[in-house]
Amino acid sequence: MDFERIPHAAPVPGETRQQAIADPGFGKIFTDHMVEVDYDEAKGGWHTARLRAREPIALDPAASVLHYAQEIFEGMKAYRHPDGSLALFRPEQNARRFNASADRMAMPHVPEEVFIDSIRQLLSVDADWMPPIEGGSLYLRPFMFASEAFLGVRPAKQYKFMVIASPVGGYFKAGAKALKIWVSRNYVRAAPGGTGAAKTGGNYASSLVPQMEGADQGCDQVIFLDAVEKKWIEELGGMNVFFVFDDGSVITPPLTGTILPGITRDSLIQLMREEGLQVREEPYNIDQWRIDATKGNLVETMACGTAAVVTPIGTVVGPDGEFRIGAGGMGQLTAKLREKLVGIQNGTVEDRHGWVMKL
Ligand SMILES: *Cc1c(COP(=O)(O)O)cnc(C)c1O
Repeated sequence: MDFERIPHAAPVPGETRQQAIADPGFGKIFTDHMVEVDYDEAKGGWHTARLRAREPIALDPAASVLHYAQEIFEGMKAYRHPDGSLALFRPEQNARRFNASADRMAMPHVPEEVFIDSIRQLLSVDADWMPPIEGGSLYLRPFMFASEAFLGVRPAKQYKFMVIASPVGGYFKAGAKALKIWVSRNYVRAAPGGTGAAKTGGNYASSLVPQMEGADQGCDQVIFLDAVEKKWIEELGGMNVFFVFDDGSVITPPLTGTILPGITRDSLIQLMREEGLQVREEPYNIDQWRIDATKGNLVETMACGTAAVVTPIGTVVGPDGEFRIGAGGMGQLTAKLREKLVGIQNGTVEDRHGWVMKL
């Protein structure tokens, strides 16, 4: 697709931008531009692509996304390499997952090259927003929603695909501090046959009440159990999990449709197997977690995702009380994998997998 490029008439002044990106936090500030691509079934599909000033968009109050939540998104990052170039990490995986999410939500595919080109377009004008700080990156948020004004219940015929970018530091304020996790008993995140494997806003909306419940108990994040037996550990609201044992084996819950197939998860599985660790994708239950952690043969538990990379889980507040993982802080393997993955992404560790796409 050809992009119409309409530069921002009044971008944020350089000095203001420098101040903002010195301590960006997460998802609070945004770059000057955005990408907007329109889909209309009557016009043969995707038809108009623009790179333009980031600003509020006009939406009909009957737009179906506002009523029936036909919406999907991705989360990825652009990194600055030591040679000054920009790089993406496995962006084709995000493009593919985006279309898998689209399938589940009865939405049209965004061609992979349009997805990647949209990101290139945005970065071509907003690269100066990269935070010049350790661990800093440009968080990219591609998303698509039903824009058709129609209140009948059926897949919409009009959509918008957009990309915005947000300079970010670490996801958690305290950096890689170990998380305190609340085990949700009253709420589930996803059920078999539901939308758990799609990156769709509704999954996040339904995770907010359990997240608040956890926060009331002094926890940072919530871990969800399966919807049927209420004992198999699935994932956090936005991160996958790995359990590390003292015999060098590792367990992560299998992708059976209720878990989001994380790209960080997939990358870590590969890195661990190359290290000679035995990684099993199999169910692991909440009682066993407590027993193994208490006995000491479970030595680490890590949460992983693009935003927070790899983060240790230090304490679990479960139905049978609280228990600690290892010494309650950052474990050895967690630290090692975090360093390796961050190194590959930032271009300081050799990329032997062809994961890095230089722009
Ligand atoms: C995005 C997401 C993840 C992590 O996926 P990555 O590709 O590693 O960023 C995990 N769980 C949920 C529910 C998510 O939405």
